[in-house]
Amino acid sequence: MQSNVVTLSDGGGGLKDVNWGVVNNGLDFLESSVQYLARSDNRSLKYAALHLFASMETLVKARLAREHWTLVVADSNVPTKAAFESGNFRSISLGQALQRLGSVADITVDGKDVERIKDVEKLRNRAAHFSLAGETPERVKVVVARGIDFTLRFIEKWLRPEAPIGEARLIDETLERVREAIGRIQVLVEERMKSLEAELASHLFVLDCPACRQGSLVLSSDQAARCLYCLYCPGGEVCAEEYSASILEISRYGHALEGVDWPIHSCLNCGVEAFVNHIYTAGQEEVGWACFACGYYVSTAEIEICFGCGSPMDVRGGGTSLCGDCAAAKFEKF
Ligand SMILES: [Zn+2]
Ligand SMILES: [Zn+2]
Ligand SMILES: [Zn+2]
Repeated sequence: MQSNVVTLSDGGGGLKDVNWGVVNNGLDFLESSVQYLARSDNRSLKYAALHLFASMETLVKARLAREHWTLVVADSNVPTKAAFESGNFRSISLGQALQRLGSVADITVDGKDVERIKDVEKLRNRAAHFSLAGETPERVKVVVARGIDFTLRFIEKWLRPEAPIGEARLIDETLERVREAIGRIQVLVEERMKSLEAELASHLFVLDCPACRQGSLVLSSDQAARCLYCLYCPGGEVCAEEYSASILEISRYGHALEGVDWPIHSCLNCGVEAFVNHIYTAGQEEVGWACFACGYYVSTAEIEICFGCGSPMDVRGGGTSLCGDCAAAKFEKF
């Protein structure tokens, strides 16, 4: 594909050629990611994640540069056109590029896609700096497949329209090959979910998994939460925190600033800091409080928050405004 750069070029040199080369590169990374994804060994999955991120970054910036080339430059000192054309400048991040696309071109990426991009970015950072040890191949595959899905939609909706003719032709050819390959991968994901149907149906609670985001995280009594799809099972406390960050979108450090209550408390059954409020089933129905360490569950109506310390209290035996500890402390004062 690289050899097409010269033959399909619009000619004339200058910025058009720069963008053309960049798009060509982005599509090449995308296709490479899909090819690596089709294999299952750890090394291939690492490159699938790295190349997908490179592809997203390149294609989103190429679209931004179509608005104006200086928009992809990070420095406040804009480089000369010659420096830009030779790639000799510092470029903005993917997140900044998406933000700028929103402001200058009215191209907005919805919340679900932002999550998908962030998941790929996290995976890419781990793959680049550490390794994917600890990640299951199932999780990497589903995160990369979703990222590819976003990239395809981005190309179709925002990059393909108004692309110069040679660029449009290359986009069409690449998309055809990539769609076929990603279709096969999506079938594998669906088949795996299907094979889990009976087992998932046997669980009272099936939640969205914070690692792979499939509706396949199960809670069963006296067991830590675990994902049947990607086999994620880091222990109750870690899983609760990840669920809060990825699914409820409440972070330990940001919740106070955002004005939301921290949803994780000590479990009324096992005492572990893994008792989570606002649990949603995979069907998006709120079901109440559940412990990610021991599987204990209580509906929202059966829990009251202690007026004194903010911990949850089981009020099935009758309503009260203070928990046992706070009531005892108050009693001691008198
Ligand atoms: Zn999972
Ligand atoms: Zn518990
Ligand atoms: Zn209390």
